[in-house]
Amino acid sequence: MHTIANHIAGESREPIGGAYLDNIEPATGRVYSRVPDSDERDIDVAVEAAGGAFAAWSATPAAERSRVLMGLADAVERRAEEFARAESIDQGKPLSLARAVDIPRAVTNLRFFATAVLHAESQSHDTDGSAINYTLRGPRGVAGCISPWNFPLHLLTWKIGPALATGNTVVAKPSELTPMTAGMFGEVCIEAGLPAGVLNIVHGLGAKAGAALVAHAEVPTLSFTGGTATGAAIAGVTGPAFKRVSLEMGGKNANLIFADADLDAAVESATQAAFRNQGEICLCGSRILVERPVFEEVLGGLVERASALRVGDPLDEKTEQGALVSGAHRDKVAGYVELARTLGGTVHCGGIRPEGLPDRCRDGFFYQPTVISGLDPGCAVEQEEIFGPVVTLTPFDREDEAVELANATRYGLAAMVWTRDVSRAHRVAARLAAGVVWVNCWMIRDLRTPFGGMKQSGVGREGGVESLRFFTEEKNVCVRI
Ligand code: NAD
Repeated sequence: MHTIANHIAGESREPIGGAYLDNIEPATGRVYSRVPDSDERDIDVAVEAAGGAFAAWSATPAAERSRVLMGLADAVERRAEEFARAESIDQGKPLSLARAVDIPRAVTNLRFFATAVLHAESQSHDTDGSAINYTLRGPRGVAGCISPWNFPLHLLTWKIGPALATGNTVVAKPSELTPMTAGMFGEVCIEAGLPAGVLNIVHGLGAKAGAALVAHAEVPTLSFTGGTATGAAIAGVTGPAFKRVSLEMGGKNANLIFADADLDAAVESATQAAFRNQGEICLCGSRILVERPVFEEVLGGLVERASALRVGDPLDEKTEQGALVSGAHRDKVAGYVELARTLGGTVHCGGIRPEGLPDRCRDGFFYQPTVISGLDPGCAVEQEEIFGPVVTLTPFDREDEAVELANATRYGLAAMVWTRDVSRAHRVAARLAAGVVWVNCWMIRDLRTPFGGMKQSGVGREGGVESLRFFTEEKNVCVRI
């Protein structure tokens, strides 16, 4: 059985306590690798290694740091198929999705930040001829990067890319549920010649290894992506320590479909937005709001498409929806569907474990794409993040009402608007309390744009300039002339 190692000080290391966690393949329910159950001793050693590497790495010219990061991207790309298979097996996502999205995006992240840092600018101001003020920007030291399980390598590189490009050194803590590609990334760092200690990857539980990283006195910068409850716990620890923190958290995103929309395109996109990656995407459109005259048409189209999605072995090339990440998560998702039934909602399709799965997958954590209507928009199913293949539909009569319904959650990550009315598109987009609004599309990303959530979906922004700023300290120098 494969045993994953921590990557510390440029080498593969066992956890100091010698303990390991079972890593379960979601499609089969069976243990297929072991992941270090690291504790604060491993975090201490990793932070020490990162601290030791900081002086040299931060003094390395940006062009050289950029070259090293481009080398990492090339090394991942060379092993793209191996990475995609590992990610598919680890998370339960279709191999085709890992191939098309996760791994290419990880490569793109590294290349984007490797080149962005070459274009970094700083301002200067002439103060009425009496002084010149200029801004210096430099790395902050050891950055902690904590990532979730739904896009393991993509979200790891989204954080370590800008942190390393700007001259910080890093201790990363990937999700204990999907550690394989981060384990492989440690190997890639050795192959690509990343100087020892510049990036350290410590595996283990959030409450143990993750919490130790968050609390560590020598880690002034923390970038976290994960659930809102975890973000709140991290904020509770880092607030009094005055750390700089970026929190990218959960979503309960509304997809607004107006009657004048291109309904075919809207329904096709709504299906993708609801069920891609088993609905385990923070940006999924899990609440569909539909203008009443087209409600039945949208509902019918969605049910037809959702029922036709091929749920199956993630490694099967034809599979469109794989397994949920864990048994506990599948049970949580199923629990929300049961609650919807209890609350009088109508389950139009799904709400069950799929049939006809191959033998290999009989104990896997599968769940059929599920479409529900008839719920009170204030109920828990409509308000809480389910993070699975479950979508609800609610009719609306007026534009104002649609905006109110969309904004009536504690989350504010993303929203979608489908309309052919250009004025309405801009008007509604401006009123939606969401960090990203997609008009007549979903999931198009330009890495130069600020990314993040409002309300309890996020604190801070990541993305091109924002990420470079987040990982650097600004200083104003004022010279009298
Ligand atoms: P999670 O919060 O359970 O875990 C995320 C990471 O934090 C893991 O590495 C985990 O080990 C670690 N962690 C857990 N407790 C910790 C603690 N006390 N201290 C430090 N680290 C700790 O989230 P998850 O279940 O892995 O991911 C799903 C969540 O992530 C969903 O809510 C989803 O919406 C969110 N997400 C958000 C974005 C975004 O960009 N906003 C992107 C992807 C996922």
